[in-house]
Amino acid sequence: MKKDERHIETAVIHGGYDSKDMLGSLTPPIFQTSTYTFATAQQGERRFAGEEEGYIYSRLGNPTVKILEERIAALEHGERGLAFSSGMAAVSAVLIALTKANDHILCSSGLYGCTYGLLTMLQDKYQISHDFSSMDTEESIRNKIKPETACIYVETPINPTIRLIDLKMVAKIAREHNIPVIVDNTFSTPYLQKPLKLGCDVVLHSATKYIGGHGDVIAGLVVGKKDFLDTIAMTTQKDIGGVLSPFDAWLLLRGMKTLPIRMDRHCDNAEKIVEKLKDHPKVTAVYYPNKNHVNEQDTDKQMKRGGGVISFEIHGSKEEAQQLLNHLSFIKIAVSLGDAETLIEHPATMTHAVIPEETRLEMGITDQLIRLSAGLESWEDIWKDLEQALNKI
Ligand SMILES: *Cc1c(COP(=O)(O)O)cnc(C)c1O
Repeated sequence: MKKDERHIETAVIHGGYDSKDMLGSLTPPIFQTSTYTFATAQQGERRFAGEEEGYIYSRLGNPTVKILEERIAALEHGERGLAFSSGMAAVSAVLIALTKANDHILCSSGLYGCTYGLLTMLQDKYQISHDFSSMDTEESIRNKIKPETACIYVETPINPTIRLIDLKMVAKIAREHNIPVIVDNTFSTPYLQKPLKLGCDVVLHSATKYIGGHGDVIAGLVVGKKDFLDTIAMTTQKDIGGVLSPFDAWLLLRGMKTLPIRMDRHCDNAEKIVEKLKDHPKVTAVYYPNKNHVNEQDTDKQMKRGGGVISFEIHGSKEEAQQLLNHLSFIKIAVSLGDAETLIEHPATMTHAVIPEETRLEMGITDQLIRLSAGLESWEDIWKDLEQALNKI
């Protein structure tokens, strides 16, 4: 069977690795080394000149990290993958590689808080401006594209409001203007959504979340066309230096093996909790991917299933929102998502606190909004815990 014909359930276990290359070791070895020896001075010269394949120094490449990079490239159907020391190292390496002073970035309205912080810094230091668009119609995108627009940056589902953006539509308009589209696929993972297959150019992840899946590693991944990824590898990855350690790459390889079964369980639990939340009198709104874009049977749909993250609004104020969190028993108050444990947070005062209030409210991040990452526990237990806390506010 050709490698690209394998299903994702097989690719998460075998992608990028053949035990024959590693003395038969079933599990990929951890190459815990900073540098590599050259047999001769001439070999060192050839490696630096790019005339001979081989490792030089672990910031430029490491065999354990390379397995992970090939595996994520296989899962996202991209030509090359790169691993970073955090999701933000991945985001910054991509945005800095694609822009120069006085360029413009068009973004989905609703971004991870630190991505927003990075955009603000790029604006203040290098006059790289940005605009937000709802991206809900073709016009809403076309109207915001400028001659100096260097890239379009999209999160879908948008964190934390869980609104979806039609990636095929964004990719179509971007292609007319020859602008690359970057998608932060952290919430969906390649199991639920494959942006490159929908026509986008670069996909990135905070692998800290579902890809690692066990709350024990901070990491980022980028996948795209070989030429562009080669450029990142030789510039914003090599020279800024946010590379992943071999041990963290190994943790991700281990976590990824169960990505499809974990995602299905996260989705099952989230779907059940969404139904319960909708019926609770203290809850005024529930946000979860809308059925128009989600369908397990129809591969034309953007997402296979809705994912594990739910947001909801409650009656009351910031104080009631905080009380709700304080009344929970085993559900943990924590930012991050995609772990085995159910995590809950208050975006307005935690993940999105850096965003000025007016912009935050425009993005739909009210003081009453709560984000829940459904874990892998029994959904009945998760709901029981949430319900008793809701009943107390
Ligand atoms: C967590 C997160 C990031 C940042 O990733 P880190 O691994 O924390 O650096 C970026 N985008 C989204 C959507 C995230 O949830």
